[in-house]
Formats: sequence, C-alpha cells, structure tokens
Amino acid sequence: MLAAALLLGVVLPSARASEKASAQGLIEQAANSARVDPEVSRRQAESALELLRRDPNPDLEIRARLVLCDYYSERDRAAAEEQIGAASALLPQATRQGLGAGVLNCQAETLQTIGENNQASDLYAQAAAIATQTHDDQMLAEVLFSSGYLRGLRGEYAVGLSELRRAQALFEQQQMPQHALAALGSIAIIYNRMGDYAEAAHLYERALEAQHKAGLKREEAVTLHNLGRAHENLQEWDAAHDDFAASLELSRQLDYLRGQAYALRGLATVANSQGNPNAAMTLLDRAAEAQQRTPDTRLLAQIELARGIALHQLKRLKESAAMLEQALVVFRQADSLGELAPTYDALAAVDADLGDWRSAFDYRTLAQTTATRLLGDQLDQRFATLKVEFDTAAKEQENELLTRENEANEKALSQQLRAGKLRTAVVVLTVLLVAMLVWLAVYQRRSTLRLRALAMTDELTGVPNRRAVLALLAQLLRRSATPTSILIMDIDHFKSINDRHGHLIGDETLRSMTANLREAVAEPALFGRLGGEEFAVVLPTTDLDQAITIAERLRERVMRIDLSRWLGDRRISVSIGVATSAPTRDTMSVILRRADAALYAAKDAGRNCVRTHAGADEQITPRVA
Ligand code: GH3
Ligand code: MG
Ligand code: MG
Repeated sequence: MLAAALLLGVVLPSARASEKASAQGLIEQAANSARVDPEVSRRQAESALELLRRDPNPDLEIRARLVLCDYYSERDRAAAEEQIGAASALLPQATRQGLGAGVLNCQAETLQTIGENNQASDLYAQAAAIATQTHDDQMLAEVLFSSGYLRGLRGEYAVGLSELRRAQALFEQQQMPQHALAALGSIAIIYNRMGDYAEAAHLYERALEAQHKAGLKREEAVTLHNLGRAHENLQEWDAAHDDFAASLELSRQLDYLRGQAYALRGLATVANSQGNPNAAMTLLDRAAEAQQRTPDTRLLAQIELARGIALHQLKRLKESAAMLEQALVVFRQADSLGELAPTYDALAAVDADLGDWRSAFDYRTLAQTTATRLLGDQLDQRFATLKVEFDTAAKEQENELLTRENEANEKALSQQLRAGKLRTAVVVLTVLLVAMLVWLAVYQRRSTLRLRALAMTDELTGVPNRRAVLALLAQLLRRSATPTSILIMDIDHFKSINDRHGHLIGDETLRSMTANLREAVAEPALFGRLGGEEFAVVLPTTDLDQAITIAERLRERVMRIDLSRWLGDRRISVSIGVATSAPTRDTMSVILRRADAALYAAKDAGRNCVRTHAGADEQITPRVA
C-alpha cells in the first residue's frame, strides 16, 4: 500500500512533466509549420490544447491559441475571434507578459483581412510597444512581420522595410528560419513595388535557395513566380521565361492551381513580348481555366491584359479593346498604377490602329501621367527608404560609440579603483615595515644595553664589576688633568666566615657589605667588586690625602656594619691599599700594582688598616688613625 502510494507520488509528477513538455513541443512545431503547412500547424496546436486541458498552463494555452488565431485570421473570422477571446481571458494568469502583444497582433491580423487597415495599424503599434517593454523578442518579431507587411501594402515602403528587416533579424536570432524566410520574401515584394526590380530579384534568388534547401516546394513555386515578375519588369525575357516555366512545373507537381494560373499568365506575357500571340492565347486559355477553380479577380484582370495585347498582335482589334477595358475596371478599382500604365498604353495602341485618334490620344496621355505618377511614387519611396536606412545606420553608429565610450569609462574607473587599493596596500605595508624596523632597532638597542650592563655588572652583588672599574680607571688616567686615586679593599679573614658559616652565608655577607658601601660612595666616585672578597673604589680628581681620608671613613664604616643576622656577634673588617696617580703620568698597571702592594702592606701590618704606596719613593706611609 505504502509502496504503491510512494510509486504514484514518484510517477505522477514525471508523467505530468512529460505531458507539459510535449504540449510545449507541439506548440513550437505548430508555430514553425505555420508558414510551411498551415493544416499541420492547426492540428498540432489543437493537440497541444487537448493535452493542456488535462494539465492547464496559461502561458502554453495562450501560445496554442495564438497559432490557431493566426491560422483562422485569413480563413474564418469568427473562429479567429473566438481564439482571441479565449487567449485574452487567460492573459491575467500568464507569467509571460509579452503574450499580450501576441493577442493584439492576431486581433490586428483579423482586422486587416476585412480591410480595417487603420485599426489594424494602431493595434500593431500597441503590440510592438508591449513586446518591446517586456523584452519579448519572439512576440516583437511576429508583430513587426505583420506590421511591416501591412505597411508594404499601404505603400509605406520605407518604414515597412525597416520593420521587416528587424523581424527577419529577430527570427534568425531565435532560430526560426521559416519565419525569417517569410520576412525576406515580404522585403523582396516591397522592393518590387518600389520599382527596384533588380534588388527584388536578388532577394527572391536568396529566398529561393533557402526554400529549396528546406524542401518548401509551395513557397518555392510562389517565389519562382515572383522572380519571373521581377525579370518581366526588367524585360529580361529569357530569365522570366525560365522562372515562370519552373514555377509552372512545381505548381503542377503540387496540384497548386493558383500557382499554375499565375505561371501561365507569366509565360503568355513572355510569348507576347517575343511576338508569338498564338502561343500566348493558348497559355492564357489554360491560365483562365485554372483560375476559374480558385477565383481571383486581380489575376483574371492580368490575364485579360495579356490577352488584350495578344489579340492586338493578331489584329483582332475590337476584341482586344473590349478585353483591355474589362481589365481596366479592375485595375482602376485597385488604383494599381503598375498595371494601369501598361493597360492604358495597350489601349492607346489599339485605338490608334482602329483610327479612333481622340481616344488613342486620351489613353496615351493617361498612360504617360500614370507612368509618371508611378515613377514619382517609387522615387519618393526609395528616397524615404534611403533616409530611414541612413537614420538607422546613424543611430546604430551613435549607440555603438556611446557603448564604447561607456566601456572605456568603466574600464578607467575600475583601473583607478584598483590603483587606489594598491596604493593603500603599499602605504599600509610600508607603515608596517617601518614600525617593525623601529621596533627591531629599539629591541636591539635595549638588548645591547642590557648585555652591556650585564657585562659590566657583578652577578652576585649587582655593583660594577672588575671590567667596569678598570674601564673607568683607564679612562680617567688617559684624560684627566687632575690626580686620580684608587682604593683596593680586601675583607680580612673571610675564608674563616665561609668555613664557619658556609658559603651561602659568605655570599650574604658579601651582599650586605656591598649594599652598605654602595650607599657611602657617591658619584663621580665608583664602587665595584674586583672579584672574591676584594673591592675597589675609583676616585676621580682626588689626591692622596683626600683618598686616605675616604679610605679611613670606609674602613670604619665596614666595622659598623651589622651582620648579626648572618654572623651572630661577629663583625668584619677590611684592609685597604691606596694609590694615587699624577695626572696623565702613570699607566693603569703601575697604579694597580701600587695599590695592590699597599693592600699587602696593610695585611702585613695586622689588617683592618689603610696603607699607601705612593709615588716614586715606593715608601709605605705609616698607618693613619
Ligand atoms: P686575608 O685576611 O689574608 O685576606 O684572609 P682571607 O681568608 O680573607 O684570604 P684568602 O685569600 O685566604 O681567602 C679568601 C676566601 O674568600 C677564599 C674563598 O673561599 C673566599 N671567597 C672568594 N670569593 C667568594 C665568594 O664569592 N663567596 C664566598 N662565600 N666566598 C668567597
Ligand atoms: Mg683576598
Ligand atoms: Mg681576605
């Protein structure tokens, strides 16, 4: 049960999807076959509607109804209007907004077939506006195609041409080759009407090639006839003959009666031009017969014109005049200048042969004014076309220039932005680098200073070490203009402290004494440890007497240091050797040796006393105090 439900759930939507796809496929086929085989197109659109009844989709249904409307617009006005009504009702539900243009387009086509050309023209304009606004190129192409065709009929050749050209380009863009071909055919017809038969012939030949490749035989038959007409107008009779003959052959294969009638009329005109009126008459009889089964007043009049000319050549003057006058009525009704001019011309010739000079003169005048009017119209239209072409080209060029300018501006702007970002990055990096370098320099300087301080400091006591003491002494001896003195003091019997209290207590004793003496010795004098239990005091600008006084004070101070915490009631004492150098006379080793000797003298004298070993006399001064 559950499995079945699941299966249904899976199967149903996909079946729906394929139905929708096939409805869409059918509609696309129907749209494409509309210009090739209208009956097939109608059946495909109806099948699509059948599918959509089960699975509605407003967009697709409107498109199917538009195809049907297009089909009925030339055949059954009521049926066409029914499709328009149904499509209009669906429009509010449609997601594709451009479909509104399609509905208006078909409405216009229907109006056009009953001759309401002004209304049709207005609707085409509305439809084109909607298709443009909604960016629906397919709808726009359809509208421009219909509108351009109507303009061609109304003699608005220039605008008609530009619309048909746009339609052709849009159809090609959308891979709708049959539609593009139909647009090309309509363009050729307009050139033909403008009297530019050479251009028309060229375009027909292009269309012919494409139709032949696509196997569109009926279209090919029509185009061959049109090409024959262009060659007829150019009075290229051999070419015209071949075209009409080919068209006749194809139409016969297709059982296309109207095509046969048109081709036969063409061949008759060629025969007339070659002075072969009998052949022309036979051809025209066949043409008239074919025409009778699909009545076409205009074609009949054209057959009558050709027959009138043939009868004239056969000297059957009265019959000729009657025939030509019948044709004249139809051409006048249609105000078809292209056909009126040769008819007037033929009538003038016939009446002249009949000796009716008055009538001949009138027809000749009419022939001339008509030909002049026709030529004038054609020239006007060609100038208008050139102007539209020029304006379009100029506008396109302007647009292209603007686009290029915009592109250049955007490029420059983005480059500027990039350059700005790059500059910021460089500035930030530089600042970072400089900060890092400064930090490194400061760090290095600090560690150098710390290392130097470490190198100059005694580890145990924190006072300047031997190196620092000797450095200052050397400096003073070298530079000083005044006497420099040095005291070397050695703790008496220090070994016994270590021995009795241990090495750690010995260290503490050294520290306590150092801390005490450091306070007693103020700058510029320097107190330092030479090593072991031996210390020194460097005394700048101090002569021997002053040095002895200082040494005594220090010796006494040491005796007063309270070390009871470490040593109980034991006190310590120092022996001190003093030496003084005359300014810049003695070297450091000399003065040190003297101080050392004085210290030994103090030790020898029983310790806890000050001795000097001053000057060159090498005399040890007696103990002071
Ligand atoms: P004198 O009165 O002749 O100077 O006798 P003294 O015992 O002081 O002399 P001596 O040179 O015989 O002994 C010095 C002692 O100092 C030896 C050594 O163990 C001790 N000493 C040297 N440096 C240190 C130190 O950093 N800490 C401690 N605790 N003892 C030290
Ligand atoms: Mg010693
Ligand atoms: Mg000692």
